[in-house]
Amino acid sequence: MDCSDLCRFVVTVEEGQIIKFEGDRHHPVTKGFTCKKGKDLVQRMLHPDRIRHPLIKKNDQFVKASYEEVFHIIADKLVSIKQKFGTKAILNYTSDGYGGIKNRIQSIFFNCFGGVTQPTGSLCWGAGIAAQQYDFGNPRGHFPDDVLNAATTLVWGRNPKFTSIHLYKLLKQAQKKGSRIVVIDPVKTATAKAFDDYIRIRPSTDGALALAMANIVIENNLHDKGFIEKYVLGFNRFKAYAAGFTLKKAEQITGISAKTIETMALQYARSKTASIYIGFGMQRYHNGGNNIRCIDALAAITGSIGKKGCGVNYAAKSISPFLYDLDKKSGIYAENRRVFTIGKLGQFLEQVQDPPIKAIFVACANPLTQSPDLEKTVKNFSRVGFKVVFDHFMTDTARQADVVLPAAFVFEQEDLFATSMYSPVLNYSQNALDPPEGLMPEFEFYLELAKKDRVEKSWIQGFPRLFEKKCATFIGKAWKKVCPIT
Ligand code: SF4
Repeated sequence: MDCSDLCRFVVTVEEGQIIKFEGDRHHPVTKGFTCKKGKDLVQRMLHPDRIRHPLIKKNDQFVKASYEEVFHIIADKLVSIKQKFGTKAILNYTSDGYGGIKNRIQSIFFNCFGGVTQPTGSLCWGAGIAAQQYDFGNPRGHFPDDVLNAATTLVWGRNPKFTSIHLYKLLKQAQKKGSRIVVIDPVKTATAKAFDDYIRIRPSTDGALALAMANIVIENNLHDKGFIEKYVLGFNRFKAYAAGFTLKKAEQITGISAKTIETMALQYARSKTASIYIGFGMQRYHNGGNNIRCIDALAAITGSIGKKGCGVNYAAKSISPFLYDLDKKSGIYAENRRVFTIGKLGQFLEQVQDPPIKAIFVACANPLTQSPDLEKTVKNFSRVGFKVVFDHFMTDTARQADVVLPAAFVFEQEDLFATSMYSPVLNYSQNALDPPEGLMPEFEFYLELAKKDRVEKSWIQGFPRLFEKKCATFIGKAWKKVCPIT
């Protein structure tokens, strides 16, 4: 469920019923420890309100439908929209509500259909990712237990006690071993309360703090000249810019006393190993990506990059490029692809022409609660003539749909799962149970839809089969290895 930690579960089934459900003690990161959300998964799966069969809206009411009926309606719409307006008039909206690779099928399907309109960017962490791509290339992060090698750790704008419980546990272990943990946050969060050193900062002034710290490091000749010479671009310009962030100025901007900033900077630079764990909040402002770039620069000038117990840990994208290779490959068929910024869905739907959007397909997402400017988004989303939504429950987005399709649950299909937020471990998931009777998982749904007469003629034939085969081989290989891929 788009959580950074990616727990793996052991599910014991007897006569089609789950009789025992627990975290997998052999998992290299989560080690059997799960949170309440994870523990409630079975309840969620068995909930009476779960959607278990296709629904079609007739006279403003949802009525039960067969898959054949749904295939007929969707195939007809897809082909007629393609003929009249071109494939750009179809919007494919998917997100991270399900982290398995099989659900990439919706994007693969639409790529092969000729390329459609789709969102780009991220509602939550895109500016930070772009920042770290500039600074480090692919933001891979360190393996989770590397934090135990850090003598000092700055937990900067992150609340792992609530959002990454396995990191929190490791931080507590590190503290016991003698590491100094400093929490920097505008709010005294549960994590901040759990450690001795808490520094309150004004929201989005993190860049000024990092620059003032860098200035102190340079003034005290604590920067790592060897590392800078070998790996750092633009040090002299950075030094001159950081010199403008005196302690007095930083105190005014951040609300942190000059003495505290100085002490923290000296301690960070003098630690043999110093790691930083940053959260998403600080990049959700104008120029927010630069807050992260300033922190990256602080770590770079002290040489705290690429070594054990160091780094600026924001994302863990070491395996995602490998995982998404399959749908990237289908991108060569998407000649008519059009993109818009995901945070501007409402505005995009209101303004788009040539062609306007005639159909929307949503999976693994609930944009009518998640998007900014909701009023505009709901208004313009509901005006689109044909909408299909896959989900477990009747969400705000599903309520606006013309066709609602049930989604398979994590235990109901074989798949591979990954997170790009914290851990570089690939989870193999066996299907412990069959889906509810008559429910067709999205993967099978799109393979079937691709075969429908009218659809088949109008898209790249053969790719879905190829994907199916590749997916099976890929899952099989990974399962044999029982990775972690690091
Ligand atoms: S910590 Fe995350 S992955 Fe683990 S059970 Fe909770 S929500 Fe799921």
